[in-house]
Amino acid sequence: MNDRREEQAPQLPLVPLAHLDQLWFQVGGTLCNLECRHCFISCSPRNRTFGFLRLQDVLPVLEEAAALGVKEFYYTGGEPFLNPDMVPILEHTLRYGPATVLTNATVLRQQWLDRLARAEQDSLYSLEFRVSLDGFSPETNDPIRGPGTFQRTMRGVEQLVQAGFLPIITATRTWPLQQEAEVVGRFVEMLKQRGYLRPRLKILPTIHLGAEARRTRGYLPGERITPDMLAHYDLNHLLCHRGRIVTDRGVYVCPLLIETPEARLGQRLQEALGPFAVTHGACYTCYQHGAICSNPSGGEMLPSAGSPASQSPSEQI
Ligand code: SF4
Ligand code: SF4
Repeated sequence: MNDRREEQAPQLPLVPLAHLDQLWFQVGGTLCNLECRHCFISCSPRNRTFGFLRLQDVLPVLEEAAALGVKEFYYTGGEPFLNPDMVPILEHTLRYGPATVLTNATVLRQQWLDRLARAEQDSLYSLEFRVSLDGFSPETNDPIRGPGTFQRTMRGVEQLVQAGFLPIITATRTWPLQQEAEVVGRFVEMLKQRGYLRPRLKILPTIHLGAEARRTRGYLPGERITPDMLAHYDLNHLLCHRGRIVTDRGVYVCPLLIETPEARLGQRLQEALGPFAVTHGACYTCYQHGAICSNPSGGEMLPSAGSPASQSPSEQI
């Protein structure tokens, strides 16, 4: 008797794209004026793996995105403001929807902020700045982000506040969880002392990729999402359920995995709307913490019902 059994393909933890709500652009490529020790894509002044997206690259995608019903746009890098087209890109984007730009705020120019403040005033939509800062003092920030970066970033924060923006200060948790309340308190106190009277703060977990994998560790084999883990999980906590990212090398599933070849889903948005198997170590961090990439809002001040259990209150402040 032939005892050959059909080999069963392993089940994968597939996440469908429910709707393309958020569209990200790797507008700064992997080029950055800083070289942070925890950067999950190892951006630096020398890393040109991904290049800039210029205005002529972004405009047709905005049109395509509008037709697909995209609700908001995010710009990241590298440092987006090294891209000479960043200001006109944001001005154009505000005709299509709300825009958020993730920046280290060390290269901002007053004339750019004046233009962007006018663009936001003339738009139906909001422009948000997310400013990366990893400590409330030079002593706590600069060992991670580089000498002098605390003062340079805080100068940028002050420029943004004076221009009328309410930047979201984004800090990666490089301190023990039991120090969270104290650290958050020190951040808020410092920001108020520097003239930012209504500070907004978002605390992120570390992503064990790129430079951070070398600084601490990479993902362990057991740190993976299984299909069972998704059975009763609210997929809205995962960006890949609601978004995609456009780079100069094609469309990828999310900003965390642009250096993962299988996360490249196609050349154009239309080719990138299928499900994705969340089998990467970084997916496990998303699963544990949820909403890593989204902006905090009033409704997210505290974990809501159904938030991942391990999310701490200060992840969305
Ligand atoms: S973490 Fe941000 S500011 Fe630091 S090197 Fe990476 S992209 Fe640049
Ligand atoms: S890293 Fe997060 S957002 Fe990206 S594919 Fe994995 S679960 Fe989705």
